[in-house]
Amino acid sequence: MKIAVIGGGASGLFVASQLKDYDVTIFDGNEKCGKKLFITGKGRCNVTNNCDKEEFLNNVVNGGKFMQSAISRFLPTDTIAYFEEKGLKLKTERGGRVFPVSDKSSDVIKTLERACKGATIKLNEKVTSVSVNAISNYSTTVIPTEVEGSISSQTSSMCYAKLVNSSTTCHPEQSGYFITCHPEQSGYFITCHPEQSVAESKDLGKAAYLITTIKGKYTFDKVIIATGGNTYSGTGSEGDGYKFAKMLGHSIVEARPALVPIKLKESVKAMQGLPLKNVTLYAVADNKRYSQFGEMMFTDEGITGPIVLTMSSYINRAKKVELYLDLKPALSHEQLDGRLLREFDEGKNKNLFNVMRSLTPKNFIDYFLYKVSLNSQRKINSITQEERERLVKGLKNFPLAYKELYPLDSGIITSGGVNLKEINPSTMESKKNKGLYFVGEVLDVDCLTGGFNLQIAFATAYACGQAIKKEEKNGI
Ligand SMILES: Cc1cc2nc3c(=O)[nH]c(=O)nc-3n(C[C@H](O)[C@H](O)[C@H](O)COP(=O)(O)OP(=O)(O)OC[C@H]3O[C@@H](n4cnc5c(N)ncnc54)[C@H](O)[C@@H]3O)c2cc1C
Repeated sequence: MKIAVIGGGASGLFVASQLKDYDVTIFDGNEKCGKKLFITGKGRCNVTNNCDKEEFLNNVVNGGKFMQSAISRFLPTDTIAYFEEKGLKLKTERGGRVFPVSDKSSDVIKTLERACKGATIKLNEKVTSVSVNAISNYSTTVIPTEVEGSISSQTSSMCYAKLVNSSTTCHPEQSGYFITCHPEQSGYFITCHPEQSVAESKDLGKAAYLITTIKGKYTFDKVIIATGGNTYSGTGSEGDGYKFAKMLGHSIVEARPALVPIKLKESVKAMQGLPLKNVTLYAVADNKRYSQFGEMMFTDEGITGPIVLTMSSYINRAKKVELYLDLKPALSHEQLDGRLLREFDEGKNKNLFNVMRSLTPKNFIDYFLYKVSLNSQRKINSITQEERERLVKGLKNFPLAYKELYPLDSGIITSGGVNLKEINPSTMESKKNKGLYFVGEVLDVDCLTGGFNLQIAFATAYACGQAIKKEEKNGI
């Protein structure tokens, strides 16, 4: 059985490692496998999270129900065992995050590549299309002598010619080239097989899938699409999997950035790099309320940091978003008012800026006071009760003018992807095309940070690998 794996990233390498007994070919558009894996966990690769199934599912933002089956059969402990059995020592850090002891993502890639030994890896070979029973969709004939256009390249087994006029018909000839015609954006593109490769053309009829790459055409019995999402496109994940899925009749849930910084309408450039610790970020997104407690930071155009990235994953599908900060979440409104009263009592002759220094970081004070319309040089003894109330309200309910998320390419994860309703959750097989599978981030599943997204890649790849092995064993 010939199996194609499109994408040599986390899920592609993992699934290929399970199918070593078959004729497996991995295609990757890059010069090496695992380019995104290399940058994960700031170069240390947080391979999974050492947690149980419930905790894992608590960290899934989209696709939790879909993941139930795959995660039950391949838990984070199984990921740990998989790598350790292959000689990669792992350690668990704060929050259950699991890393290689070496702190090198390259060791994770090497381990996966070693585990794929036996598979053919075709690098620098970007796949451009995937089609079902391709030969029957196209007309096969002999290259017409009348064709306007010229043969643009020729190799021993294949040549390409471009027809200038899309309505040109192909006239069979006794001797010449066998060709397949298929529509492209401009005119028709024909692939010409010299006579000696006629046998190959006939084989196409039997095989289920035709894969076209920038270098050639191949036929396979099964195709596993492991092309990742559509973010950090420099790593090779350019959303091609969505294109292939659409070609094969699937629908796509719109790709949006997740785990991404947030842009604000107001200029915060002056505070770029300033962290705010132990704060609660609230969002009201299409009437749903979310909150995240922890640390955030200002960027040149907005905010980032752990609680912001997490929040972005919850709000990225909403049409209307409002953001608020509670700068003193440990204190109730009344407690905070009491504290301000005490500080005001002790520093009657101080100016407001000085009193605020005990409440918020110095570089945040001017922005804060501007937003609550108070002058930083005001003497404390001139502050009215209503103005003190405004301060308390500002500290507990500080509005941040939401503009939008940073662009798709900046997302650590893509939210959206192949519609889960069209995929069998136990096998990752398409419900539309037998022998076609989707694994990893190309699916409409996404998690929070902590190693959960790679766990998705491994668990879906495991489900797919096991299903193919079982099917083969049962002779289906
Ligand atoms: C900066 C950053 C840090 C991250 N850190 C972590 C972390 O520490 N822990 C964690 O759990 N998750 C992390 N993630 C997320 C994690 O990397 C992804 O969820 C995971 O890599 C997805 O695996 P995948 O196999 O689906 O896709 P990918 O790993 O993206 O692999 C897809 C592969 O397909 C190839 N490909 C795409 N299109 C084609 C085509 N047309 N033809 C041939 N090949 C193609 C690409 O070249 C690529 O190699 C991080 C992501 C980023 C961006």
